[in-house]
Amino acid sequence: MNFKDYIRIIPDFPQPGIRFKDITTLINNGPVYRAVIDALREAVADKQIDLIAGPEARGFIVGAPLAIALGTGFVPIRKSGKLPGEVVEANYDLEYGKDKLAIHKDAIKPGQKVLIADDLLATGGTIATTINLINQLGGEVVGAAFLIELGYLDGRSKLGDVDIFSLITY
Ligand code: 5GP
Repeated sequence: MNFKDYIRIIPDFPQPGIRFKDITTLINNGPVYRAVIDALREAVADKQIDLIAGPEARGFIVGAPLAIALGTGFVPIRKSGKLPGEVVEANYDLEYGKDKLAIHKDAIKPGQKVLIADDLLATGGTIATTINLINQLGGEVVGAAFLIELGYLDGRSKLGDVDIFSLITY
């Protein structure tokens, strides 16, 4: 199964010059969605994982089913102001300005092994910030799994020595 065939490219979204990789056409197809989650599960099968952490919103689409497939819990990483409990936060740079991501303080116990999941690795800013949050809680990041990696943006170089798995590269 060629997963790329199910991803729709939308030119000039959200800005002129960007070719947005739209995964809604892939997850609309039950067998293909399941095959993606199976492939990610196999890619990380040799790792010991206590929890999956995924940044909103598309990280939930990949991370939550992967957590169920692996039998682990799931930790949502959210924009500042959305989580109801006590949080730790970290700033991250957007193309224009800054934003904050947050995690519940008690979501990860020191020493727990955490796999990060998201739909797409672009510049790596989102995942670098997610790693920062997990480290603040004493969690150990054992890898990061993506449906898509935009190789030409070299997000990998921002993620240190974290093991990276991606099913599709552009
Ligand atoms: P980064 O922080 O690595 O630059 O951007 C990655 C984040 O932006 C991911 O959470 C991802 O959901 C979103 N993103 C950026 N570009 C695209 C795209 O072309 N398609 C999709 N589906 N998400 C994107």
